[in-house]
Amino acid sequence: MAVYRNKGIVLRSIRFGEADRILDLYTQDAGLTSAIAKGIRKTKSKFGARLEPLSCVDFMAYTGRSLDTLTQAETLRSFHEIREDLIRFEAAARMVGYVKSLSGGDEADRRVFNLLYHALDALEGRESGFEAMEAAFGMKLAILAGYAPQLDACVECGMEPGESEGMLRFAPGLGGILCAECDGGESRDSFPMPPGSLEGLRAIVRIPLKELPETGLMGEALRRVVRSHVIAHAPSNALVSDVGGGGRKRPA
Ligand SMILES: [Zn+2]
Repeated sequence: MAVYRNKGIVLRSIRFGEADRILDLYTQDAGLTSAIAKGIRKTKSKFGARLEPLSCVDFMAYTGRSLDTLTQAETLRSFHEIREDLIRFEAAARMVGYVKSLSGGDEADRRVFNLLYHALDALEGRESGFEAMEAAFGMKLAILAGYAPQLDACVECGMEPGESEGMLRFAPGLGGILCAECDGGESRDSFPMPPGSLEGLRAIVRIPLKELPETGLMGEALRRVVRSHVIAHAPSNALVSDVGGGGRKRPA
């Protein structure tokens, strides 16, 4: 029974028994971690309020055979404003889904922790552009996980988009863009990208989350591309999008 201290962002909190909760956290030093917090559903537990989904906490725990047991938690950031706003919360929930889909196992990657923290910080601090922020987070996470999409040239013929007339498509299974000539029509696993969205995709790869513009990034189109790309490449091939409650899994 080893006692340890770590920082973590609460991804999910499930009721367990009379007064306990089982938490999934993305931690700074141990990646995805599950821990039980005992007694936190009692009305007098201050501890419980600190462990709301999306909260970033500094915690103490001891290791167990299957689950660790959390004994103390101090709030570093509650990200309260995200939980209070449905649009922000939905974007955050999908970000959590990306983390679960792409960062499986208990390999620690501090860059994932930092990316999620900065994404939540940006989501809380801005007034618009939540979809673009969600897409940017998913894109950067996919790149960290080793699944960078090919955006500079057609995945089939290698032609650069500027040389090709006509509508570009995104082919998630092939991992990048398809030019109009290589586009095999609707039967292929691909979909059209509206004009300007390729520039948007390149921008979310290049620009740090904090500096992402709040407007003008075609958030909906970017989100579609990133979501399809993550689903095509996630090790579990399923996008888990459940912050807070039960174990709802959305089929790919
Ligand atoms: Zn081509």
